[in-house]
Amino acid sequence: MDWRATRDVAAAAAAVAGTAWAVRGRSSQLFGPSVWRGPRSCHSLALTFDDGPSEDTPRVLEVLDRYAVAATFFVCGANVARLPAVARAVLAAGHEIGNHSYAHPLYCRLSPRAIREDLDRAQQTIQASTGTAPVWFRPPYGVRWFGVRAAQQRLGLSGVMWTVIGYDWSLKAEQVAGRLTGRACNGAILCLHDGRELQAGPDIGVTVEALRRLVPELLERGYRFETVSRLLCPTT
Ligand SMILES: [Zn+2]
Repeated sequence: MDWRATRDVAAAAAAVAGTAWAVRGRSSQLFGPSVWRGPRSCHSLALTFDDGPSEDTPRVLEVLDRYAVAATFFVCGANVARLPAVARAVLAAGHEIGNHSYAHPLYCRLSPRAIREDLDRAQQTIQASTGTAPVWFRPPYGVRWFGVRAAQQRLGLSGVMWTVIGYDWSLKAEQVAGRLTGRACNGAILCLHDGRELQAGPDIGVTVEALRRLVPELLERGYRFETVSRLLCPTT
């Protein structure tokens, strides 16, 4: 391969890397405004859960209730349609609900119109089932794409990525807890999952066990747990 070919390959690799960052990078703003952490000045954290509600979300609520901590649940519209009473129980327990799409698609495979329809359907389903319209949005797989910005703006949704993700769908509970407690810092947004995409009756035992370990440890270190709204907009 001559130098021109090498240069072209390197440029193509850089472009792909740049695109990947724009699509999935937690601090990328290219496809829509979003935040990935709260202020460093407060000794607070936001626990967030994606892909619910699921049949086992009440197990998560039980742990949070035991320690009297609030969290934010980024729900999928299709899961809310299946389990509306669980979605209402999340809100009734004092937690916040955000929009995590309707069908948990990869937005980079959809047209802007299909993205808008998915996001609208999720928002309508959540509002109809719970009486609350989310103001926060977390894209499925953390993937943003052309059309996400406009769809978000139409619904008045702000994007929320994460500071630390638990990989609770693949790691062991002690590893998940270790990742989150090891990387927790002022203003961090921690990401776990109380469902597994749109699966009915998913096994979230790892998530529940990790939560049982990490919440008391972080409380002992003096952290306060806030909803995303209270972490990002403490005066509201
Ligand atoms: Zn998800």
